[in-house]
Amino acid sequence: MNEQFPKTGQQSLPLTGKQIVIAKKELQCIFESLGAAGYTIVGPTMNQEAIVYEEINQVNDLPIGWSDEQGPGHYRLQQKGDGRYFGFVVGPHSWKKFLYPPRLSLFRASQNGDGIKFDTDQQTPQYAFVGARACELAAIARQDRILLEGTLQDPHYKSRRERAFILAVNCTEPGATCFCHSMGTGPTCDSGFDLALTEFVDTLLITVGSELGAEMLADCDLRPAGAFELDQARRLLTEAETKMGRALETGDLPDLLYDNLDHPRWDETAERCLSCMNCTMVCPTCFCVDVQDVSDLTGQHTERVRLWDSCFNPDFSYVYGGNLRPNIRARYRQWLSHKLGSWHDQFGSSGCVGCGRCITWCPVGIDLTEEIAEIRGEQS
Ligand code: SF4
Ligand code: SF4
Repeated sequence: MNEQFPKTGQQSLPLTGKQIVIAKKELQCIFESLGAAGYTIVGPTMNQEAIVYEEINQVNDLPIGWSDEQGPGHYRLQQKGDGRYFGFVVGPHSWKKFLYPPRLSLFRASQNGDGIKFDTDQQTPQYAFVGARACELAAIARQDRILLEGTLQDPHYKSRRERAFILAVNCTEPGATCFCHSMGTGPTCDSGFDLALTEFVDTLLITVGSELGAEMLADCDLRPAGAFELDQARRLLTEAETKMGRALETGDLPDLLYDNLDHPRWDETAERCLSCMNCTMVCPTCFCVDVQDVSDLTGQHTERVRLWDSCFNPDFSYVYGGNLRPNIRARYRQWLSHKLGSWHDQFGSSGCVGCGRCITWCPVGIDLTEEIAEIRGEQS
C-alpha cells in the first residue's frame, strides 16, 4: 500500500481521477460498499439464455466465464470457462430499463367514499449500474440531452439519474455487431462514470471518476497502477478499436439520408421488415412513449401509466383521422433517417451509439450498417 493510497475507513481518499489496481475478488468489496450505501446493484447476469441486466448481489451472480456470439438476428451464449467477469458484450437490455422504465405508474386514483383519492409511487430507486460499456455511457448521455436538457425535463428520469452510481467496463473484446468506434463512443469509457475498470487475468485496473467512486473503494485492498498495467490497458483498448465486427461511415450522414428519401432500398427493406418494434425496444437511445389510463372492472380504481412505444407501431403515427406513416417503408425510413439523420438537427449528435443491438435482435437480421452502405451504393 502506497502512502498516497490509504486503505480502509479513510474519510477523504485522494483517489479521484487516479488509476488503481485491485485483485478481481476485491470487486465483491465494492459490491458490499454499494450495498451498505443503500444501492440496489443491477448488472449482467444470465436469464432465459441471454445476458440481461437484473438485480445482483454478489460477484458470483455475474456470467463468469461466459461469452456471447452475435450476428444479424443471431444470439447464442458460449461457455468459455476462462474466468472472465466481463467477457461478453451488450445483450438485449440497456440501462434505460431502469432510468426510463418500460412501464411507469404516473398515478393511481380510487373512489374513496364521496371523493377520489390519488396516490403515486413515492420512492425513487437508487441503482448502482455494474458493467456499463462505453457505448452505453454515450446512450445515457443522449437520453440526458433529451430528457434533462431540453425545454421540459422528465422528473422521473431526473430523480433516478441523479441517484445512479455507474461502474463502467472498458470493452477489450468487441462483438460481431459492434461499431462504437465508428460512432466515436467506444470502446474506452472516457467520462460519465464513477468507476471504470479494465479486466486483466487476475486483476482489475480501475479509473476513479468521482468522489463517490473513491468512497466505494475505501474498504478495499488496492494499490496504485503501474506503468505495465497502464500500457497493457492501452494496448488492449487500441486493439479493440480494430476488432469491431462492423463499421459505419458517418462523414456524409445525415445528408446521405435526406438526399435519398426515394431510394429503392426502402422498398426492398420494407419487404423484409416485420414492423415488430424489436429494434426500438432494444435501442438504448429510443425514447418514444405512450400514456394510457387503465381502469379495473369495478370502475373503482384507475391508473395512468407511461409505456414504451415505437415509431414502428402503426398507431404511433395516427393523427387526426389519418396515419402519417401508413406502411412499413415509411416507418422504417422514419426510424433510420431520424436515428442517423434528423437526430443531429434536433439534439446535436447521432441517435446511434453503435451498440449493435438492433442488428442482433432484429428477427430478420436487418443491419443498419448494411442499409446505409446500400443507400450509398457501395454494395449495389
Ligand atoms: S440504432 Fe441500433 S446500433 Fe444504434 S444505438 Fe440503437 S440499437 Fe444500438
Ligand atoms: S427492422 Fe427488424 S427489429 Fe426493427 S421493426 Fe423491422 S423487423 Fe423488427
